[in-house]
Amino acid sequence: MMLVDTHAHLFLPEFTTDLDQVMERAKVSGVEHIFLPNIDENTVGPMLELENRYRDFCHAMIGLHPCSVGENPEVSLEIMASWLGKRTFSGIGEIGLDYHRDLTYRDQQILAFETQLDWAKRYDVPVSIHSRDAIPDCIRLVRKKQDGSLRGVFHCFSGSLQQALEINSLGFFLGIGGVITFKNSGLDQVLAEIPLDSMVLETDAPYLAPVPFRGKRNESGYLSLICDKISSLRQVESLEVAAITSKNALHLFKSSLNNA
Ligand SMILES: [Zn+2]
Repeated sequence: MMLVDTHAHLFLPEFTTDLDQVMERAKVSGVEHIFLPNIDENTVGPMLELENRYRDFCHAMIGLHPCSVGENPEVSLEIMASWLGKRTFSGIGEIGLDYHRDLTYRDQQILAFETQLDWAKRYDVPVSIHSRDAIPDCIRLVRKKQDGSLRGVFHCFSGSLQQALEINSLGFFLGIGGVITFKNSGLDQVLAEIPLDSMVLETDAPYLAPVPFRGKRNESGYLSLICDKISSLRQVESLEVAAITSKNALHLFKSSLNNA
């Protein structure tokens, strides 16, 4: 079984004490590649260190997370832009909109999101989109920027069937994570209607651990639980779910893998 974790923050302090074991468990469970979405200027160092330690296995993205966007995101954005000028990244992430906590910096979030979507086009890399309580605006902005060259994932998708179809029609994948294993997520009915061709798998570690680890620290080795859940929902072998979603992920991120 070959799996690809398209979204994991394994560079966060939650993993400092047992990182080697976390990586070992991921490999044993079939994970062959892990994509690391950045958060802000403070996480770039630890992320690049981790990528360097697990070469050809972990692949860094660069970007400013919407929850790290404050009144003046320009300085942080400039730091991200300067990194983009220095080396190749596997994608632009984690970017997007988060209207869940508060709406104070909504305009700044939109500006940062649009700026970073432009980077993805300029550098020809995929994006990893965070859309919490903000899927309609994220879809609207992606549509506005889509000229046929934008590609990426709506990470941790938990929207409606209508939204899933719109995202697919924009050429984007749905990132499916631990939420699919939660009772009453409603995501199971949505995913029953969506082809496997439009899904990639992710953990979002250390967050959103799948059942039976819900509420605990998540790690890439739990990706197989998400794969198994989709397999039982769709009555398709786990091996097939793994093969199709991994093929999708490798195709999406292929430019970074060729450079590796
Ligand atoms: Zn994330």
